[in-house]
Formats: sequence, structure tokens, C-alpha cells
Amino acid sequence: MAKLKPVKELFVLPTENGSFLLYAPLNRCVAEVNSATVSALKSAAREGVDSETHPQLQPLVECGILDEEKKTPSSTCENGRKREYLPTSVTLMPTYKCNLRCVYCYANAGLDAEKDLEWNVAKAAIDLVINNAVKLKTKHASLGFHGGGEPLLACVLPIVKMSVAYFRDACAKHELKGQVNSATNGVFSQETLEWVAENIGHLNISLDGPEVIQNTQRPKAGGQPSFDAVVRTVKYLEEHKKDYGLRATITRESVFYMSDIVRFFKQISSNKSFHLEPLAETGRCFTTGAKAPSSSDFVKYAIEARKVGEELGVGVDYSACRLHEFTTAFCGAVGRNFFVVPTGDVTSCLEVCRKSDPRSNVFFIGTYDANDGFVFDKEKIARLSERTIDKMPYCADCIAKFTCAGDCLAKVYSASGGLYDTRNNKRCGINQDLMVYEIKLLASRRNHDNKQLTA
Ligand code: SF4
Ligand code: SF4
Repeated sequence: MAKLKPVKELFVLPTENGSFLLYAPLNRCVAEVNSATVSALKSAAREGVDSETHPQLQPLVECGILDEEKKTPSSTCENGRKREYLPTSVTLMPTYKCNLRCVYCYANAGLDAEKDLEWNVAKAAIDLVINNAVKLKTKHASLGFHGGGEPLLACVLPIVKMSVAYFRDACAKHELKGQVNSATNGVFSQETLEWVAENIGHLNISLDGPEVIQNTQRPKAGGQPSFDAVVRTVKYLEEHKKDYGLRATITRESVFYMSDIVRFFKQISSNKSFHLEPLAETGRCFTTGAKAPSSSDFVKYAIEARKVGEELGVGVDYSACRLHEFTTAFCGAVGRNFFVVPTGDVTSCLEVCRKSDPRSNVFFIGTYDANDGFVFDKEKIARLSERTIDKMPYCADCIAKFTCAGDCLAKVYSASGGLYDTRNNKRCGINQDLMVYEIKLLASRRNHDNKQLTA
């Protein structure tokens, strides 16, 4: 029988009770072992081992931690494969204008009298994803709206309505399942709210928490409070049983109230999970002085909020720590996204939505041309699509590598001037500490349940 060796991607965590946790992300496995087993694994790594002569290692063979060397996965980076850019999903950014002045707005929305998205551009974008869906026989396509500014603002609502109607017609014609979603600040008229509830399949609402936090961090353009308007939107969606999500941005001031934010969300919403994301200092932060929470504070209060969430029966999510979602690329910015900004340019990252942003050199991957339709920069798309975790030198030994996958491309680029150098990424501490917490939690739950320790 061939000698067995530990899989390449294996992390060993000491626990408080003197045992060790083995975490093998590619095998979706967490196992609690003693120090003798850790020593046996170290020697197996050097010389290989025959499990028949070491029966105590048999459980590690069964969960795949010990395997024949040739079978050890060296890479799962399917995203790095060359493939044609044929998006079946488009997100339109109708405007840079906004009715709020959030102190940290990444898009600095609402300041400039810039042009809004034109109908011929929106229509061409929808045609493109429908044609791709037909060509690829995917049977589904999706249309989304996002900032720039507030995508459901009254001045661009006509183009949003036309886009939704046109998209739905096209889906029906080609027998495609069409999904429509939008991000929003949730501040609009009753008439708009009713139309949105009826026509947008999923809404992702930004609400920073209880009244004081929301009104301080997300005031209206004239400085008035926005809390009542957003809560009214949530109540309406609840009453009409609509699909929506709640997301709070956590600042240096609000980090201490993460548990209160979860309790508040639970009070107003029947959703089963809520999204809490630490602020990244960009856009308007540089004029308002809005600050990100320290890593240690965010980790401490995120864990506290997770515990409160468990008591309340709701999940608390953070984008770079998704234990059950294994990935080799952080998000679709790796040359998969098709986001159309108000000028008709195409970006692969929502955060980089203006040509004046120096990062547009990397993330702007195409533009609309009145004669040729959308024209894409294939070289840029190929360059972005190569950004997978197996090519990131400073992530190689990181325990969060298959859940964080090198983290947000735009934030890493801002910090280092490149896509691959994560040494200055401020979120690494958060990502790694929360990952260790999740692994330990999983192990303790499985121990408690006396079940096999497999993620
Ligand atoms: S609602 Fe969104 S787009 Fe508007 S100011 Fe706030 S963060 Fe910016
Ligand atoms: S080193 Fe940082 S960016 Fe890289 S995977 Fe780990 S947490 Fe993410």
C-alpha cells in the first residue's frame, strides 16, 4: 500500500485544553487530536506513513487529512483558467447622485452634477447579458442596480423602471429565469417604495443600526435624520413579505454597539442573518474624518455580536470570513463582473466607479460605444482573472486563505499599489482571528454533539 502523507493545506491550532485542532480547508475537515498525533503527522510529512501500522491515524485517513501523496490537491483555482468574458448578469449604476450624505461614502456620492446613465447604454447592457445567457444556455440572467449614488433615486427611477420592464420582457421571450436586485439606502417616497416592493426581487438595504448611529453616520443630504424613512421601508417590506437584506457599516464609533445593532435588526426584521462590515477608509472618509474600527475592536465585538445572534437565532455575516464558502477568488472583480457606471464605462469593482479614480486603470474593463456597443479590454480582464489565491505569495500560509482568498481587490490595491501584495491589508488581522474563532466554535459544537468533526 502507498505511503500516506498529510494533505498540503493543513493548519494546526493549539487549543486552551492542551489538544490541537487540525484544519484541512480543501477537505472541509476539522479534527481535534492530541500532541502524539501531531508528532505522528510531522513524521508522516517527512517520510510518509502506513495507516495499518498506525490505527490511531485511521480517522484522519477517513476524513482525507492523510492521503496518498499523488492525490493531494495542489490547487483548486478554477478561476485562473482562461475563459471567455460572457457575463449573464449586469449591475447598472444609474447615477452618482444621492439623497444621503453618509460620512464614509466610498463613491463620494451626491457632490457633482455628473451625468446619469443613458437608456441606450442600459438597453445595450441588458441585450448583452440576455444574448450571453441564450448562447451559454444558462436558463437564467440577472439585472442589478447599485451606487455610485442611490440607484433608486427619483431622478433615475424612469430608467430603472424601463430597464426592469425591458429585462423582464427579454427573459420571458427567451424563457430565461430573470432575477432583479438592488442595493439601496431605503430612503424614498411611498410611491417609489410600493413600486420597488413590487418589482425588485431582492433589496439590499444599508442601515447602520439604532437611531443615533444611523442618523450620525447616514444623514440626509440636508443633514436631516434618515432613520425613520429606512425603518418605514423595512416595515413595509416585512408587511408585504418581500425579500431583502440588512447591512450595517461598522465605524470606529459604532464598533462597540455591534451586539445592539444585531438586537435592533432582530426587532425590526424577520431575516435569518444580517451583514456587518467594517468601514474601509475611502471616498468621503478623507473629508469627514470617518475612521475604520481597529482590528482588535472589530474582532472582539464581532464575536460578541455572533454570540448574541446565536441566542436570537440569527447569523451575523462578514464578507471575508465565510467558513462554509470555500473560494479561490474574493469576488467577481476578478474579471467576471459586468458593472456599468453612469458614464457608460464598465468596471469590475463597485468601489471603483469613477474614471478619475486612479484604480480605474486596473478595474475599468470596457466602455459603451454608440456604434460598436460594449467594447471590452480583454487583456485587463485576463489580468484580473489571474488573481487567485494560489498566486498570492503573502497569503500562502494564511489560515483564512480559502475563505478570504486575498481579500477585496480594490482595498488591497489601495494599500499596496498592486493586486497581489497583501502585506498592508488592514483586514488580515480581522480575517484570521475570526477564522480561528469559527474553527474552534465548529470543533466545540461537534464535540458537544459527538459528531464527526467535518466542516
Ligand atoms: S447612501 Fe450610499 S451612495 Fe448615498 S451617500 Fe450613502 S453610501 Fe454614498
Ligand atoms: S493573508 Fe490576509 S489577504 Fe491573504 S488570505 Fe490571509 S487574511 Fe486574506
